[in-house]
Amino acid sequence: MMKKPSPQQLTVIHSEKISPNMRRITLHDNVLENLPKDCDGSYIKLLFNQSGGTDLSSLKEGERPVMRTYTIRKFDAERRTVEVDFVCHLTQDLQCGFAARWAMNVTVGETITVAGPGNIQDMNTEVDWFFMVADMTALPALSAKIQKLPNNAKGYAVIKIIEKADIQPLKAPDNFRVIWLTGDAPLASNVKSLDWLEGTASVWTACEFESMRELRQYFRNDKEVPKENIYISSYWKQGVSEDGHKVIKQQDAKEYS
Ligand SMILES: Cc1cc2nc3c(=O)[nH]c(=O)nc-3n(C[C@H](O)[C@H](O)[C@H](O)COP(=O)(O)OP(=O)(O)OC[C@H]3O[C@@H](n4cnc5c(N)ncnc54)[C@H](O)[C@@H]3O)c2cc1C
Repeated sequence: MMKKPSPQQLTVIHSEKISPNMRRITLHDNVLENLPKDCDGSYIKLLFNQSGGTDLSSLKEGERPVMRTYTIRKFDAERRTVEVDFVCHLTQDLQCGFAARWAMNVTVGETITVAGPGNIQDMNTEVDWFFMVADMTALPALSAKIQKLPNNAKGYAVIKIIEKADIQPLKAPDNFRVIWLTGDAPLASNVKSLDWLEGTASVWTACEFESMRELRQYFRNDKEVPKENIYISSYWKQGVSEDGHKVIKQQDAKEYS
């Protein structure tokens, strides 16, 4: 069973570029039959050695693997597979992190050690409307969460992608307005420019750290959405690897709570 303390080795059985900046990797192992049926949208940790390889036997005694957090976009219990979508991010000097580099280069048959899954908070559905905001790193989680909403749910889903061709089909309720922002369009100010609807809102937001902070100020302070109706999380931070981001995130949570 793929419980948190015992990471499992999974095999890559498919890798596909689904849009210019997103690669979908399908991972398989029989152990996945024990995953909770409704784990779409949960997070997992991919484990790397100190040089970004997936061979953990090269870790020295007491050395911890480097971890990168990703989302189970889709779990197929019958095939015992999970699909994970990776943003293919590259900095101007053509550098990228361990996980993005792995995803861009991995071939079918290779293995990777994965821990989890862990749950991210569900949206409170006892509300009048919903406000969902994501960038490309949170698009897999948003697409899993949005399809669990009641059919008559209304609200917005604002998603920042890198280019127009990164748009994906979303199973959003009919009364949802889905807005795709491309290129340099700033996420937070576009969100703020939308009409605030009547009644109680439930907010789900995951994106880059600075945008998260601006949106948190908007939802919590300006619009006074109660804490229990908000999931807001930074999924990465510009210029900092996940290890550094984790420290900053913990500090921020302490200061803000
Ligand atoms: C709960 C959760 C779920 C997540 N799910 C997904 C998912 O399903 N798919 C996904 O792609 N990401 C997801 N992320 C984000 C992902 O963990 C980070 O983007 C992570 O930093 C990528 O690791 P890396 O090794 O590629 O880069 P790192 O080594 O962490 O960073 C190297 C450099 O790349 C920059 N960088 C990192 N991510 C991006 C990016 N997206 N765009 C531009 N620059 C970037 C960093 O700022 C740093 O300068 C999730 C994060 C969380 C917390």
